[in-house]
Amino acid sequence: MSIRRLPENLVNRIAAGEVVERPASAMKELVENAIDAGARRIHIRLSGGGIDAILVEDDGCGIARDEIALAFERHATSKLPDAAIEAVTTLGFRGEALPSIASVAQLTLESRTAAGDGWAVHIDNGRMATAQPVAMTQGTRVAVNALFEKIPARRKFLRSPRAEYAACLDAARRLAMARGDIGFVFEHDGRSIFNLPAGQDRLHRVAALTDRALADNSVAIEIMRGTMRLSGVAGLPTFHRGMADHQYLFVNGRPVKDKLLSGAVRGAYADMLSRDRHAVVALFLDLPGDEVDVNVHPAKAEVRFRDPQFVRGLIVGGLRAALDAGGNRAAQPASAAAMALWKIEGGQIEGGQVPPFAATGGYARTANFFAAPQRRFDQFNALAPLAGQAVSAPTDAGALDAPLGIARGQIGATYIIAEATDGLVLVDQHAAHERLVLERLRRDASGSGVAAQQLLLGDVVEMEEVACDRLEDAARDLAVFGLEIERFGPAAMLVRATPAPLGHVDCARLLRDIADDLAAHDAPLSLPERIEHVAATFACHHSVRAGRVLSAAEMNALLREMEATPHSGQCNHGRPTWVKLDFADIEKLFARR
Ligand code: ADP
Ligand code: MG
Repeated sequence: MSIRRLPENLVNRIAAGEVVERPASAMKELVENAIDAGARRIHIRLSGGGIDAILVEDDGCGIARDEIALAFERHATSKLPDAAIEAVTTLGFRGEALPSIASVAQLTLESRTAAGDGWAVHIDNGRMATAQPVAMTQGTRVAVNALFEKIPARRKFLRSPRAEYAACLDAARRLAMARGDIGFVFEHDGRSIFNLPAGQDRLHRVAALTDRALADNSVAIEIMRGTMRLSGVAGLPTFHRGMADHQYLFVNGRPVKDKLLSGAVRGAYADMLSRDRHAVVALFLDLPGDEVDVNVHPAKAEVRFRDPQFVRGLIVGGLRAALDAGGNRAAQPASAAAMALWKIEGGQIEGGQVPPFAATGGYARTANFFAAPQRRFDQFNALAPLAGQAVSAPTDAGALDAPLGIARGQIGATYIIAEATDGLVLVDQHAAHERLVLERLRRDASGSGVAAQQLLLGDVVEMEEVACDRLEDAARDLAVFGLEIERFGPAAMLVRATPAPLGHVDCARLLRDIADDLAAHDAPLSLPERIEHVAATFACHHSVRAGRVLSAAEMNALLREMEATPHSGQCNHGRPTWVKLDFADIEKLFARR
């Protein structure tokens, strides 16, 4: 058999197999071209998940009439001025996207430069069909219809329009997030999904694309290490989600997906979120071109870092530093939804004059309210006789000015009520205490180590052999937390000392919890990170329980310690430890405003 060159159209189709996997990848290429063309505004319109049609319109530099044909040739690009691949700052540079997409769809491109006239070409699955003048303003419009219609082998791998749409939305979000300076409009089947003005700052752009409330529930990240810079937005731990779908990474302005991100984020939030909850983050990493290879795959947004551990450390460190600086910032102000739960005779707070049982939501809640009248009554009765003390006498005259105010009482033996200069503060005593114990353990562990309380005889705890193996492996790290254990035969551990700050400890229970924790985090986390979890377990099981009556002095001590402790705004599971009702909110409750 003689050797022959593949026909051009076949080459393009083969390339399309890499570059154009699905509508989202075609859309991404077109939007990247618009960005590279210096567009200020980009309009994306899809129908049928992009399988039926993708339209991308921009007001960028346009393509000159006599260069349009060249744009559809393979490896023809305007983006490699000095042919130095490492120095490329545009999103594209391979010159593969347009010919690839055009080889597997009906594609119409219309374009006009500042100096020239508008010109339109239509390409039908790789064959130039028509070319003609068109009236238009400067910019480019590309319409891709009937993707893969002539290529059943590819078409059958497409998922439902819904799923394809979701992939398009994700890609569009990432591109729009990277470029707050550009205005983006995104529509699907005639519905406007987002419409973002040009020139949005980063926080507002990220919030508009994830959750508007993020703007008030996040901290800014800004950290330099060597030649690398990390900036971005990180949601407070209380602002968590059930899915890790809002975690974004941009490397030198390019959206990328990298496994490293989710691991690093998990590490940074390790002891502030429970395992099934996820933080919202958008991180922008800028580093010299030789530290990263963005060229790993022609279309999949993968990168290869020269020193992944360093990058991981930068992300964990940057997030931690930002969350520390955000410190004990309140979780959230009492949310509108929570406010609506405060019932008053005559209607809901915000609802104005809603009669008590008219609104369906209000009715349901009101019904619940009466469903357990006895319990409520009991809780109110518990309003602090504060171990016999005069409740209102401040134990510390200055405390009223403190952010969390001065303790005025306790309800349900669970919540502390405090008065601050600007309103009422409610504290969940168990959640707060748990957090304080953890921070104390952590502080001591990173210093001289947590004090150990020696047990006179040692406590033998029998457990499964694998659990013993895990504990034995971690023994040295656990000793830093004041927990001294040794192997005691194949299926038992000997506890010699326990962490002093925990006071009396149920050794068997503690060891079992730790072994479970170590098992749960076996794979994804490094040992130091797992030990962080272990510290959280210590704290959780050995803190002031809900249901304990506290003295005024104890409550005020707790409030003061919270103010002085980083991260005290949320418990180890990401729930808020305290909420505040401003006087303004209280006035609303009483219809004074
Ligand atoms: P690449 O982006 O890698 O250069 P493409 O096949 O995506 O390759 O595009 C080929 C060329 O067509 C680009 O280099 C650019 O000159 C031109 N081009 C494509 N889309 C646009 C656009 N929206 N505006 C201006 N020029 C464009
Ligand atoms: Mg391109």
